[in-house]
Order: sequence, then C-alpha cells, then structure tokens
Amino acid sequence: MNSHKYKLGQRSRERLQGVHPDLVRVVERAIELTSVDFTVLEGLRTTERQKTLVAAGASRTMNSRHITGHAVDLGAYVDGQVDWSWPLYERIAEAMKLAAKELGVAITWGGDWRTFKDGPHYELRRNTAGVTAARGEATSGSG
Ligand SMILES: [Zn+2]
Repeated sequence: MNSHKYKLGQRSRERLQGVHPDLVRVVERAIELTSVDFTVLEGLRTTERQKTLVAAGASRTMNSRHITGHAVDLGAYVDGQVDWSWPLYERIAEAMKLAAKELGVAITWGGDWRTFKDGPHYELRRNTAGVTAARGEATSGSG
C-alpha cells in the first residue's frame, strides 16, 4: 500500500464534525493507509434528513447511527469525483479495517452486511460506543 499519499480535504474535515472521536481517528488513519483516495460524504445526520432518506428508500431505518454521530460514509474519490465502482470500496474498507485494528477501535463496514450492502458506510460497533442494547433493532441497521 502507498503510505501518506492522500489526505483529508477541508470538506471531508467539516463533514467529520460531530462524529464520535474514535471513528474520526480511524478515518484519519485510514486516509494514510488507503490505496484509493476517499472523501467523507456524510457524518452526522439530522433526524429530518434521515426521514427523507428512508422515504426515498436510500436508508431503511430511523435508528441510523448517523443520527448519533456513530457512523460515517466514505466515497471513493477518483479524478476529482466520487466513483461508485464496488472494488474501490473493498480497498477503502481494507484501509479502514487496518486503521481500526491499529487503533483498537471496533468498527463495522456496511459492505459486510448480508442484506442491503452499504459500501460507503462505516459505524462504531455498538458495544464499544457506549450504547446499551440495541433498542429493539434485531439486525444491523443500515446507513
Ligand atoms: Zn451511512
């Protein structure tokens, strides 16, 4: 992997505001490790915006961890724009998982979910984020 090839842009940093510090640390480390540049698409999300996303079918839960600042969406950034090609997201996930392991932060990648795979989505695992038993949510939520 290339090291220190990429860095977070101003817009990405702004979008990390309000996100849990552990997750921010992982993102900051991952940008140093990744072989694919990425940009932060979204971090903290308002309840209003979540309602809009659920209505549009872009998200399936009102229990999104974006609302509490425990999730972040990363987009592959190629030639000055976001690229949605799936293989790029696997490479970003590789960097995110490595960064998380290094820092001792437990994260879940949306791309590992069996249903509704969410390639850009990462969230802190509930048991390490100080959130007690998933409030009536049987499956892993989605972005
Ligand atoms: Zn998400």
